[in-house]
Amino acid sequence: MFEHLREQPEDPILALMDRYRSDPRPGKIDLGVGVYRNSQGVTPVMLAVKSAERQLVEAQDSKSYTALTGDPDFVRQMALLVLSDSVEQERVAGAATVGGTGAVRQGLELIRLARPDAVVHIPDPTWPNHRAILGAMDMEVQTYRYFDAEANGVDMTGMLEDLGQVAEGDVVLLHGCCHNPTGADPSEAQWKDIVKVLKARGATVLVDLAYLGFGDGIEADAFATRLLAQQLPEVVIAVSCSKNFGLYRDRAGVVLVAGPASQARVVQGNLATLNRLAYSFPADHGAKVVEMILSNTALRAEWEEELSEMRSRINDLRESLAEALRVETGSDRYGFLAAHRGMFSRMGATPEQIASLREDHGIYMVGDGRMNLAGLSREDIPRLAKAIALVCG
Ligand code: PMP
Repeated sequence: MFEHLREQPEDPILALMDRYRSDPRPGKIDLGVGVYRNSQGVTPVMLAVKSAERQLVEAQDSKSYTALTGDPDFVRQMALLVLSDSVEQERVAGAATVGGTGAVRQGLELIRLARPDAVVHIPDPTWPNHRAILGAMDMEVQTYRYFDAEANGVDMTGMLEDLGQVAEGDVVLLHGCCHNPTGADPSEAQWKDIVKVLKARGATVLVDLAYLGFGDGIEADAFATRLLAQQLPEVVIAVSCSKNFGLYRDRAGVVLVAGPASQARVVQGNLATLNRLAYSFPADHGAKVVEMILSNTALRAEWEEELSEMRSRINDLRESLAEALRVETGSDRYGFLAAHRGMFSRMGATPEQIASLREDHGIYMVGDGRMNLAGLSREDIPRLAKAIALVCG
């Protein structure tokens, strides 16, 4: 049987991590993999998470199954965190999933179940796993213009033009905030224009929200998702707790569906069945920790404070690197680094430049020049800026 298997292409990001690990040079800089690191270069367990975990270990008296859609209190708390009062609770169905990836997958499974021939429109570029998952599900994919590589910002004209062609019942995938890999997000005014077009086309939206709180704050980062949920009849939202709760390996996530109240019960039942078919019950530990933090005033305040520190660190690093590059290049061509949000920005370097940064300077970036600024330490900035200026101009 297994002789029929084809070799799978290696994941470029994981392959880069391996190369980084085996590089003996002391000053090497890893800007590849998408995890947050603090000023000591570690991805810490958040203090609020530690406290909640301690309480959980003490208080938990059973590890029996939860529900197929996970702990309902977790789902409710996540719906409140993400949607606030933008939609009535009766309109919302939701299920705990295996991280944000599981939420994207289960959201797409639901869409495929409802409309097997739905075309899914994804931004160009996007997180590579979007296309990979859609390919594995045999769903039809089209891209819409998203990034203006000259201006290093959102290509609003191209995006609105392409979204204006979407057929009724098609699905449009949007990044709720902190777009991966570009770091470029529409402004609030631009989101309003996007919503207008989607409304007119009768599209269903899938929002991928993996970085809530990493951009400008929880409320600001939830703006687009809430606007979409409020203005459109049907929205699917895939939420990850990996980054903003630092729960990467615990795989906490949720898929939320805001649709007509009359359909919420059936949607909920379908989400339960989809979980049943994929893995029965979703993981609970991380979800329970999140639920405890969100529902406890002190833990929540501590978490919000830590999240705000992480966000400030990322935005400070952005400012500092942009400033160092301004000095090194004598131009403002890297000013976009300070304007972008989230962990990533895209440099727009050629493969040769990326190779030279790696081979000659020990600086590791993913193929298209995507940098994880949240992986940077402040001491590395002068050297990084010098190397970029030297190699890329
Ligand atoms: N969506 C996007 C855009 C992401 O960048 C990520 C993480 N790289 C995810 C979803 C999924 O995150 P996870 O499955 O680790 O929660």
